[in-house]
Amino acid sequence: MNEKPMRSPNIQIAADIIKAGGVVAMPTETVYGLGANALNPIAVARIFELKQRPSFDPLIVHIADMDNLNSLMVNLDERVYMLAERFWPGPLTMVLPKSDIIPDIVTSGLSTVGIRMPANDIALDLILSSGCPIAAPSANRFGHISPTTAEHVRKQLPDVDFILDGGSTNIGIESTIIRLTDIGFQILRKGIITKEDIESLMPYDLQTRIDKLSSPGQLKSHYSPRKPFLIADTATLPSKSKSNAGLISFSGTLEEGFGKVIRLSQTSDLKEYAAGLFGAMHSFEDDPDISIIFAEPVLETGIGLAIMDRLRKAEFYWKYEHSI
Ligand code: AMP
Ligand code: MG
Repeated sequence: MNEKPMRSPNIQIAADIIKAGGVVAMPTETVYGLGANALNPIAVARIFELKQRPSFDPLIVHIADMDNLNSLMVNLDERVYMLAERFWPGPLTMVLPKSDIIPDIVTSGLSTVGIRMPANDIALDLILSSGCPIAAPSANRFGHISPTTAEHVRKQLPDVDFILDGGSTNIGIESTIIRLTDIGFQILRKGIITKEDIESLMPYDLQTRIDKLSSPGQLKSHYSPRKPFLIADTATLPSKSKSNAGLISFSGTLEEGFGKVIRLSQTSDLKEYAAGLFGAMHSFEDDPDISIIFAEPVLETGIGLAIMDRLRKAEFYWKYEHSI
């Protein structure tokens, strides 16, 4: 799974598919994306169809250089260049008013578009070889676990035209999304780049709440395994941890009594938890010996905020809609 493909030929095949209006799964540094020509509304429609994604959930547009930013977004100011200089290529998506060349289907009819430059050579090569920006959500069925390997994509989306295998993604959770406003910024989705990282460049955080209007795709339930999934806490653990339970472990303190344990860090490094989280969910989901999955919570500071956001959304369906 980790072996590198013969890069150039595969990228050329993938680029030809994108140019012809097809859909390609591509690695990025965050998770695998399901990409199509962002300027071709029919190609983008196939992304929604393949993912079974509701049309109210806008896509992120991926670019490989700063050259055509002006043609994609309007009201660019020096903050965009400052943030790009510091964080691109990298896991930061900026939401700004869109230009007319971006079809409405990409943004679910919103007048803004989210754009980022991924820090992954295969993705960058693909965008350049395709000669267009690539709209790409995560390459999973809507609501399910995001893919961090090509195998995860194959499992969920067997009908995709082509999968570019770039091994395991190194960051493992989705990009931080920020909206730039006239006087500051608002975090719409938490990620590895934290509020503090951005505040060090732009001191006006307007964050109050994430509402439906500002970020339509941010649902309470998301990233959900097909098996019961719960955040491990003292209330759920004693009654439910047994031999058919799997634990996604961070500190090593909760491991007793579980059938299987996946320890994501030996050194309490939150980056390692983020990088391994979705892979561990996939692995327990596929494991016939495991019928319930627990994940250890972490402190909600820095990257811990993004991790707890993913855990709560993965748990939501099972805890509140399924009542386990
Ligand atoms: P995904 O690429 O699947 O991780 O999802 C992309 C997410 O980015 C969406 O679910 C939205 O929450 C967010 N997003 C994309 N474009 C916009 C936008 N124009 N305004 C607000 N949020 C956006
Ligand atoms: Mg997603």
